[in-house]
Amino acid sequence: MRTPEGFTPGHVLPTLLPAGTLAFAFRDAKILVGGPTETPAIPTAEELESLGLAGRAHYLGDLGGAHCVAFALADDAPEPPGWRYAGLRSLFFALPEPLLAIAARAFQIVDWDRTHRYCGRCGTPMREKPGERAKECPACGHTAFPRVSPAMMVLVTRGRELLLARANRFPTAMFSALAGFVEPGETIEDCIHREVREEVGVEVTGITYFASQSWAFPHSLMIAFTAEYAGGELVPDATEIAEARWFACDAMPQLPPSVSIARRLIEATVVRLAGGAGRS
Ligand SMILES: [Zn+2]
Repeated sequence: MRTPEGFTPGHVLPTLLPAGTLAFAFRDAKILVGGPTETPAIPTAEELESLGLAGRAHYLGDLGGAHCVAFALADDAPEPPGWRYAGLRSLFFALPEPLLAIAARAFQIVDWDRTHRYCGRCGTPMREKPGERAKECPACGHTAFPRVSPAMMVLVTRGRELLLARANRFPTAMFSALAGFVEPGETIEDCIHREVREEVGVEVTGITYFASQSWAFPHSLMIAFTAEYAGGELVPDATEIAEARWFACDAMPQLPPSVSIARRLIEATVVRLAGGAGRS
């Protein structure tokens, strides 16, 4: 997920929502969509209102002239005939990518709103902070911003081999690059060295940035790198890693789905190594 072309973010809800405003309405973690399963449609704010659905509104911005607003519906909001609540993952490849990206953004704002209703320090109900996407406590002044959790992904190479691991939480056959969340006090590079050491027991060098991806499950920013093997024995950490192996770049195992940055990282690296640009 990334910011779509032609999207101007904002956080101030217009007093009157113009016709054609898109309503990204969530009941718990699922979004209200209409239309056929293969071509789902996001309702307009008027449609949402005519369906009798309402909730706290969060302005998201303008997508090519259409205002985009996130709505947090009640957990028991009804499902009107002809409409359904769909998990975001089920909309991959069905909803146009710009709308999917806004839906993912909307989900994160709605989820933040729901989980920051009270001050984490003194328990007083929070209020919107004027002028920015934030909530403040009227009693103690504590401020809460939407959460984004940075995480790193690293594809370690050794000559023309790639280090891929199967995490315990993955489906049985799927291998991917190593990944982990940044801890307080760490740089992203510190995190890469620590996670690779902890997860598979090896050392790396030559860390090179690849790309980043916003991931709404629930609120991570995945920052992907390649790195070169620098030493150590492959010893997978049994609690997180079911299996870790070196794979020749012409003998890839089952990989993560193409929507993931992991897949792009692995495929781009295979192309680079197969092209002879890999160091040996
Ligand atoms: Zn407080």
